[in-house]
Amino acid sequence: MDEKEKKECYFCDKEITNNIEHYDISYHLNPWDENTIDGIICIDCSNSGYESESYFMCETCNRNIALSNGRTTWSRYIDEEIICLKCLQEEYFENGIPKDKLESNSINTGMFYDNSDLIENGFTNKETKFIRSGSSITQTNETCYKLSDKYKVIIAYERLSIIGNEGTISIWIKEKED
Ligand SMILES: [Zn+2]
Ligand SMILES: [Zn+2]
Repeated sequence: MDEKEKKECYFCDKEITNNIEHYDISYHLNPWDENTIDGIICIDCSNSGYESESYFMCETCNRNIALSNGRTTWSRYIDEEIICLKCLQEEYFENGIPKDKLESNSINTGMFYDNSDLIENGFTNKETKFIRSGSSITQTNETCYKLSDKYKVIIAYERLSIIGNEGTISIWIKEKED
């Protein structure tokens, strides 16, 4: 390492010399970004929990990924395991959303997708609908649950209010292989 190269803590900008305890950090800004942000963090910031406020480790792809970009949270908890949205989408492209989640909680399984990714993975748009009240959510759960007998089902957000209880969603389906 070039001794003249000045190293600073990624979080507090404190200059890090060799006798200050520090760690390397490396994470992706979003699940689709192949590049990483690389830096060092001082022991004080590490002890203060700055890392866990900044990024998480996806338990499926084992990568560190930023928690959010300020608008979109890049992680979800599925059965108490943290997973990044890219891995979760790949799981849904492969198997659709699990039937039990569609039955009770279909709207919360939704995400923003690139329609071209859905089409490339063999899904077609079954319907696009505006969700507003509890009854339209119940209806969507019922529709998706029935569809999941024959199809793999994915819920794509088109537009959703920040509160998340009102917006436009699309139901995408793909025939199950026998
Ligand atoms: Zn620091
Ligand atoms: Zn992942």
